[in-house]
Amino acid sequence: MTRNRPAILVLAAGGGKVSSTQPFPPYSWRDTTDSCRAGRVGDLPAGSLTRIVRVLRGPLRILACHAALLVISALAGCRTATPPPVLDGDPPSIRFLLTFDDGPSIRSNPNPTLSIMNQFATNDVQPGIKGIFFVQTGHPRGGGTPKGREIMHRLAAAGQVLAIHSTSPRGHIDHTRVSTNTLVRELTAAKQLLRDIGGTEPLFVRPPFGSMNPVTQRLYSDLGLHVVLADIPARDGVIYGYNGSFRRRIHIRHCLEDLRAAVSPSPTGEPMTVIIGFHDVNPYTARHMTEYLHILVDEARKAGFRLPAKPFYDDPRDITEAALCRRVPPPPRTHLSPLGDRPTPQANLAPAPPGG
Ligand SMILES: [Zn+2]
Repeated sequence: MTRNRPAILVLAAGGGKVSSTQPFPPYSWRDTTDSCRAGRVGDLPAGSLTRIVRVLRGPLRILACHAALLVISALAGCRTATPPPVLDGDPPSIRFLLTFDDGPSIRSNPNPTLSIMNQFATNDVQPGIKGIFFVQTGHPRGGGTPKGREIMHRLAAAGQVLAIHSTSPRGHIDHTRVSTNTLVRELTAAKQLLRDIGGTEPLFVRPPFGSMNPVTQRLYSDLGLHVVLADIPARDGVIYGYNGSFRRRIHIRHCLEDLRAAVSPSPTGEPMTVIIGFHDVNPYTARHMTEYLHILVDEARKAGFRLPAKPFYDDPRDITEAALCRRVPPPPRTHLSPLGDRPTPQANLAPAPPGG
């Protein structure tokens, strides 16, 4: 159990301001998918080949997308030839807060959500890890089913923190596209459901697609929900066709190197919280969760961070405290007493949604 009060990420320079409508840079999962969708086969010269191509347009587009991703993955590896920057001073200490969107999964043999939960309990990096699962409480193929509810019960019983992602029985719906009355009703029902399952008041929401506007932000606040985004999305949110990630280590390495270049050590010397965003409905993520734990620890050290004896949160009370410190918009400055007059992390760090 880690009882240290979480320190706050403070960017020395270069961070973008948090915006309720554009909280995405510097890490945006949408880059890959947008470029993939842009790769349309539509401007070939007329002829028989063109007709064949038109017939095969859908499958070809999928193949083209996957081929492009492989090429991008291979090329991206070139950046590993560049050594990480040499930084002066004491290295900052960080602790990872692992979060998951879009679950629970109701797949079987094995169930991805439960597989992650089990690896948290018994892995060889730090047994007993806890995280936040931002669930889809009404999804007709997830949290809205009896099996989905059972899995949420099992997560809560294991000490994992349940929070709200989507609430609609129509599934993964952008909150800004739902009427105010409907959203209030659904969020209220979602809170009641998670309260009944977990026995504690749900405090956190991560809106689908990270999409917010002043109206939805006001609703969250009125309902006692705090928005928590992610510092490093795993980019595992696109589950269409091939859902693996050849770049997982390189992507995490680059994100941690960028973060290391931007942060200063905590004034108190306590670990700063770095929020990682995964998707537990992704079977690939679930199969590789223990490997992800190793990657995070290895790459954090290589990037120049210090890690505490427990590099991952393992107590729901600590998780709640850390997530409250990292909510968006930031808490009043008086709440962040350890930092005095220094800028709050939320004022400088632009957290990114982990993939919608
Ligand atoms: Zn989502």
